[in-house]
Amino acid sequence: MTRTALVTGGAGFIGSHVVDALLAEGRQVVVVDDLSSGTPDRVADAATLEQVDITDAAALGRVADALRPEAVFHLAAQASVVASVEDPQRDCAVNVVGTLNVLEAAKRHGAPVAFTSTGGALYGDAAPIPTAEDFPPAPLSPYGASKWAAEAYVRSWTASGAGPHAVLRLGNVYGPRQSPHGEAGVVAIFAHRLWSGQAPTLYGEGTPTRDYVHVDDVVRALLAASGRAGVWNIATGVETDVRRVFELLRDAAGSDVEPTFAPLRPGELRRSCLDPSLAERELGVRATVAVGDGMPRTYASLVAGFASGT
Ligand code: NAD
Repeated sequence: MTRTALVTGGAGFIGSHVVDALLAEGRQVVVVDDLSSGTPDRVADAATLEQVDITDAAALGRVADALRPEAVFHLAAQASVVASVEDPQRDCAVNVVGTLNVLEAAKRHGAPVAFTSTGGALYGDAAPIPTAEDFPPAPLSPYGASKWAAEAYVRSWTASGAGPHAVLRLGNVYGPRQSPHGEAGVVAIFAHRLWSGQAPTLYGEGTPTRDYVHVDDVVRALLAASGRAGVWNIATGVETDVRRVFELLRDAAGSDVEPTFAPLRPGELRRSCLDPSLAERELGVRATVAVGDGMPRTYASLVAGFASGT
């Protein structure tokens, strides 16, 4: 029998890759997405796209009740730190109340939820590097706060017997289909600027570090975590500075453009790198794509998309 899966945010960057992986397993997939940053062309034809806002509990419930999902992958989010500062009410409505609505819809069908939280925006600047899951969160932005609050709901639903729900705290995810039109997603932004012959801006003079994890590794982790209860960092454990990201992409582009430099923006961390060892021990997943390999491949894939206008 075909197993059913509901993917919120499935028209987004990471969610669309989750949809592809579930379809490849032979699952019936329904995507819930309000298309606020997602696009229908990212959703595979074999999946059904329902344009629904997760803050609308009744509409979300109708989609879930029609599908009767056996698993829920919850990626829909207000995912911009800058937008969360500008409109914390909306950020809270989508990321906290929306997550509550997803948990309630899943509960009616006994479906486990795998929820994408953030590693980078949760731990704050005082965290040891690499940061393990038991370090107390100290978010700098409403986005980090709303993800932390949503995590608390996910964990309490598990604790009250409403399912084995999973929280995955992602590093800086990159890969094909990432949009270059946000303030985050530095790989896609740099790739787009290099492709169009413009100089990328390196904030923090190129020195800030992040844990760059390829989307394929994130998808494998989400599938492995579905049906398990816990909180896991999903990352590489490798710290890479933004200057190196620029150089890898510039090499891939065959460009000799020099970057421009600017100070770090408010709320941005100096260093971020997550300890991925718990996910390796408990879920048996480990990031396999190194930046030296993943960045050039991603550049090639992204520019093919830019060139075709997708
Ligand atoms: P994305 O913006 O590409 O995808 C988010 C999707 O959610 C979009 O398709 C958007 O249209 C949809 N959405 C937004 N608000 C909605 C609403 N109210 N109702 C229904 N759909 C809604 O972002 P992404 O990079 O693919 O991120 C996916 C998830 O992973 C998010 O939860 C994000 O917070 C989390 N995350 C991403 C990263 C990263 O580096 N990309 C890092 C940590 C966590």
